[in-house]
Amino acid sequence: MSEPIRGSCLCGAVSFAIDGKIGPAGQCHCSKCRKVSGTDGNAVFYTSVRSFRWLGGEANIASFAVPGGAGWTSTFCRTCGSPTPHPDAEGKIYFVPAGLLDDDPGFRGYAAHIFVGSKAPWVCITDGAPQYAEGFGSPVMQG
Ligand SMILES: [Zn+2]
Ligand SMILES: [Zn+2]
Repeated sequence: MSEPIRGSCLCGAVSFAIDGKIGPAGQCHCSKCRKVSGTDGNAVFYTSVRSFRWLGGEANIASFAVPGGAGWTSTFCRTCGSPTPHPDAEGKIYFVPAGLLDDDPGFRGYAAHIFVGSKAPWVCITDGAPQYAEGFGSPVMQG
């Protein structure tokens, strides 16, 4: 049994642990991820809800429905504003912002870039990971 991987927000109010398998990290370049992160996108991986547990601060998370976002929500720590993990619409997996991790998850780099078709013009993707025009399984642009 390997050690759980832990993560937390900037102020430490929100913390969590993941036991067992985690998905590879992807970089989403969509316009929503750029806006909520303020950067070139969102470095994220997923894990099953069974593997994920809150260590503290779940009640300190604010959730915002994005206007016109067709159910897309963003979640943040109420104290420091860090993005937080959030479940998918079906409640089967948690999406975890990779920057929250305090422990080494084991993966290196990105397994894929998604929504590259709507990436910011100033972003240069320099690794060899596949670049999907939209989500996983959409046409590959290169790589
Ligand atoms: Zn916080
Ligand atoms: Zn996105």
